[in-house]
Amino acid sequence: MLKDIKSFTYDELENLIVTAGFPKFRAKQVSLWLKKGVTSFDEMNNIPKEIREFLKISSYISVANIEKKLISMYDDTVKYLFKFSDGEYVESVVMKYIHGYTICVSTQVGCKMGCTFCATGKSGYSRDLTPSEIIAQIEAAQKDLNIRISNVVLMGMGEPLDNFENVVKFLKLVSSEDNLNIGLRHITVSTCGIVPKIYELADLNLPVTLSVSLHAPNDEIRSKTMPINKKYNISQLIEACIYYFNTTKRRVSFEYAMIENVNDSDDNAKELAKLLSVLPCHVNLIPVNAVKGTHYNKSSKVRQKAFIEILSKKGIKATVRRTLGSDINASCGQLKRNYEDKGGK
Ligand code: SAH
Ligand code: SF4
Repeated sequence: MLKDIKSFTYDELENLIVTAGFPKFRAKQVSLWLKKGVTSFDEMNNIPKEIREFLKISSYISVANIEKKLISMYDDTVKYLFKFSDGEYVESVVMKYIHGYTICVSTQVGCKMGCTFCATGKSGYSRDLTPSEIIAQIEAAQKDLNIRISNVVLMGMGEPLDNFENVVKFLKLVSSEDNLNIGLRHITVSTCGIVPKIYELADLNLPVTLSVSLHAPNDEIRSKTMPINKKYNISQLIEACIYYFNTTKRRVSFEYAMIENVNDSDDNAKELAKLLSVLPCHVNLIPVNAVKGTHYNKSSKVRQKAFIEILSKKGIKATVRRTLGSDINASCGQLKRNYEDKGGK
């Protein structure tokens, strides 16, 4: 099987080249070409043919081709539909904030977790992304927009902790100097709550932010919308978050999609405040995005305000997430679904 050369660390690349009997300095040259974004080995014109041929039979260069690009009229948010060499698609979204550009990238084609409010969850799962395919989304967007991206959130399609090894390798690669050199402190890993993997991530002690998609103040509501809760309940999840904080000293974020009449009452806010009073954290409230095939509605502005007030009175820091790119379905999974529904147009 061909090896995904862009998922190699520099040392692994050097090892590949040296073991095949070629000089060490060729690894540096190949690495520079890969960094430049070449899509074939033949573009590496200072590399002898013999080495290029060896690379061709042993490995491949993964690429994310832009299949579709949408730009928001309101706020310059850009959404991409990327196609990989096997014909699979994922989405990424680039957002501009005062402090720079943030990209939301996908980690899997689809997702196995089946959350009822989520477009990705509804489309099922095809495969994991390799580390280089996660990086390729950032590279392609930077090149296309001619910008440097400073922050990355793993909040696109897929469950990062269900593709643990590749995600950890991605984190190592993306933050390394010979790669995109994006600091781990500028990266957020979002999870629906795969508890054992939260412990594993904590033990790696990487300074990434953990963001937990909570979306409910109790097991009864959470199990109805997020099947993972039947495997790992809220109290096990909060325990894991406390462990994450104690080990990494990084404050945990909680995502809470506000769904009308499902999880947005005053009592829900009080229960949530009590639940989260046991650890330093921040809550991001997101008015739920309507997804085709679901009957969920966004909570009203009045409910959002009441909810946030209850949380802050109880000492829980919360903000309503600014909705960017609302005209381009900027929440992940929606573009791909619409694209496939229309037979790829
Ligand atoms: N699988 C990971 C990361 C990808 S989902 C996770 O679940 O955390 C990224 C975020 O979008 C999660 O917080 C998810 O719960 C949220 N999300 C999914 N569908 C949504 C919708 N319809 N409205 C608002 N947020 C949604
Ligand atoms: Fe998967 Fe996250 Fe969507 Fe749930 S919310 S189905 S975990 S992508």
